[in-house]
Amino acid sequence: MKHEIAVMSPIYTTGMTELNDKYTVHRVWEAPDEKAFLASIADRVDVVVTWGSRGMQAWQMDALPRLKLIASFGVGYDGIDVAAARQRGIAVTNTPDVLNECVADTTWMLILSTVRRTTFNDRYVREGRWLSGAAPLSDKVWGENLGIIGLGRIGRAIARRGTGFGMQIAYHGRSQQTDAPYQYFADPADLARWAKILVVACPGGKETENLVNAGVLQALGSDSYLINISRGSTVDETALVKALQEGTIAGAGLDVFADEPRVPEALFELDNVVLQPHVGSATHATREAMAKLVTDNVAAWFAGKPLLTPV
Ligand code: NAP
Repeated sequence: MKHEIAVMSPIYTTGMTELNDKYTVHRVWEAPDEKAFLASIADRVDVVVTWGSRGMQAWQMDALPRLKLIASFGVGYDGIDVAAARQRGIAVTNTPDVLNECVADTTWMLILSTVRRTTFNDRYVREGRWLSGAAPLSDKVWGENLGIIGLGRIGRAIARRGTGFGMQIAYHGRSQQTDAPYQYFADPADLARWAKILVVACPGGKETENLVNAGVLQALGSDSYLINISRGSTVDETALVKALQEGTIAGAGLDVFADEPRVPEALFELDNVVLQPHVGSATHATREAMAKLVTDNVAAWFAGKPLLTPV
């Protein structure tokens, strides 16, 4: 007899294949009425697989009273009500570390394409504007000041790449990290004032909501750039659109937005912004590694072994 699990949204194919082989998988994403569907499987499901962005709220946990494990695909778990899970004795796992390097690559793709104007210049060629004259010059990346909000697993991988570009690196977090060879700023506005390129790489959620507000953008200034690969919630999006329209900052590279997949249309008209559809970890190799961590956590739980990556 196979164990039964619920999957809120499908994970990478290799992970789905393993889950389908080992368990009876209830496909919540296909249910027209999620509440009724959860009620129909409530007496036999102890494990849920979800995504950080699909999340898991208290009402969904209540709909599955036997639930003991939420195995999430993604490192960020701001979409999961972890406090509600703790209260109900439900364990939560995520997929840290295996995605650090690809998310750092994505960050660097955004840094280079925003500051060196890759997408603007690509349009410049395609639209035949080069025939009428050379493209405008851009700012430079190498040797500049790189500020990082959230020097965690991903933030450190971003910083390591920055040293290769001969940059000075500094960071902001809730506390100074004694083992980090970079300058620390206790105030994000002071870090923004110092930085030419400010990267946001901290977790989302209530604690970091609008951490980059109008004041931080003002401090960043008209010759400097914001890169956000964390969560849309960490940046005041209305203030950001205004800062980009008015030239309060020079430009922005954005992988994440407040209300994904909806992106403020005002951004579509701006040449000083590069937009990506939340693809930080979206390579085959990394998604496969993330899926493996999810299935290994689920297997560990059913085997009564310690979870690999509990939150
Ligand atoms: P991590 O290792 O836990 O690092 C998070 C860092 O943020 C830590 O250095 C922490 O330092 C800092 N931080 C935490 N709370 C803060 C606060 N209130 N104010 C300022 N700094 C704070 O996490 P990670 O694995 O690097 O992942 C970071 C985030 O990246 C994830 O949570 C997720 O939202 C995002 N992410 C995005 C993508 C994408 O596709 N774009 C992919 C993966 C991850 P202190 O503890 O000293 O404050």
